[in-house]
Amino acid sequence: MASIASVTRQLGALEISSKPNTSRPTHEKKPSQSKNVSQLLSKFAAPNPFPVKATISKSSSQTSLATKQPSRPPSPPKPATKPAQPTIDIGRYDGGLELDNESRGEKVHGEAAETLALDSSVSQTRPTREWHLTDFDIGRPLGKGKFGRVYMVRTKGEPHYILALKTLYKSEIVQSRVEKQIRREIEIQQNLRHPNILRLYGYFHDEKRIFLMLEFAGKGELYKQLTKHGCFTEKRSSRYIDQMADALNYLHSKHVIHRDIKPENLLLGISGELKIGDFGWSVHAPGNRRTTLCGTLDYLPPEMVEGRDHSEKVDYWALGVLTYEFICGAPPFEDMTGYNATYKRIAKVDLRIPPKVSPEARDLITKLLQYDPEKRLPLDEVRRHPWVVKYRSKGHSTSMPMS
Ligand code: AMP
Repeated sequence: MASIASVTRQLGALEISSKPNTSRPTHEKKPSQSKNVSQLLSKFAAPNPFPVKATISKSSSQTSLATKQPSRPPSPPKPATKPAQPTIDIGRYDGGLELDNESRGEKVHGEAAETLALDSSVSQTRPTREWHLTDFDIGRPLGKGKFGRVYMVRTKGEPHYILALKTLYKSEIVQSRVEKQIRREIEIQQNLRHPNILRLYGYFHDEKRIFLMLEFAGKGELYKQLTKHGCFTEKRSSRYIDQMADALNYLHSKHVIHRDIKPENLLLGISGELKIGDFGWSVHAPGNRRTTLCGTLDYLPPEMVEGRDHSEKVDYWALGVLTYEFICGAPPFEDMTGYNATYKRIAKVDLRIPPKVSPEARDLITKLLQYDPEKRLPLDEVRRHPWVVKYRSKGHSTSMPMS
């Protein structure tokens, strides 16, 4: 029986890929960065290890976008032995893409237009087939981001992949002066393959928008769960931290520093597994150290609030903050009197762990929240820490359903 996970898994295996393209110009405008990233990242291909049960409904109420383009040739008939794919309900489309497109965004010109002419079918490193909006049935809205809406979609062609389609308005990206950052985010994410990192399967653009074909995170935002529950049990926190440590270790092995780890940037897959879903502040840093101040103050380490050089060890610190926030419901250095007070508490490592926190969790938090980056517990040791090992479910190194 097909499930959302199995369909998305097939998508991962297929790579929606490999149309050699010589006629169109590549968007790999910055060979030094993108080439390096892909050289470093391209070997990794992790299967999705999360078997799931998804609700399957035969009543699909989604609406297809009107198509002006010639339709693709129909797929060849399936062999009689192949079981028919049940329809996965992608929900009702609200017409938001057309509404937005009428009222929002303008054409961009010049260098910005070139930077944002993002199309994975002409990527030098991982070319995909050519995609258009008309290739998808659009379903329910999943959310609104800063630059556009996100929808649950299904590819019209067999075998009907389920995805999240994220729209970004080019003119708004340009207004916020983040075109290079967005491009970098896309180039980095396209090359990452890890079960706890949201996959980017492909991307395309039209005059006004960029569309990202993202792995569908069936259980939505982790932040909403945290808000709903106030805090997580130590078991649940420990399992998330195990997955985070694994994903961060992978990123660092590819010379990517995330730099903006916080609950708002984490999504949950269909089995409740954690997915790092935002690369806006990632830096591909093969050896060099950066001093740009970025991210929210609560998760920043002392070296960043003090404007000193920093390394991948900033993510170790953020992991400590995340552990604390999962268990206690608020970040450790939060100070309601303002940024200055938070800044001072971070710089002093003014850490106060409530008595309800177990000794093992306390030990891990303390070992990650070290002023000296070199003294922070390395990620593979985080994964071997007694508090993490204690709750890891048998047979799974990362995934686990949440209690
Ligand atoms: P963003 O623009 O990434 O902030 O996305 C806006 C909202 O859309 C998020 O807060 C999520 O609720 C939802 N969303 C984004 N990406 C996905 C995804 N891959 N799967 C499911 N929901 C998503």
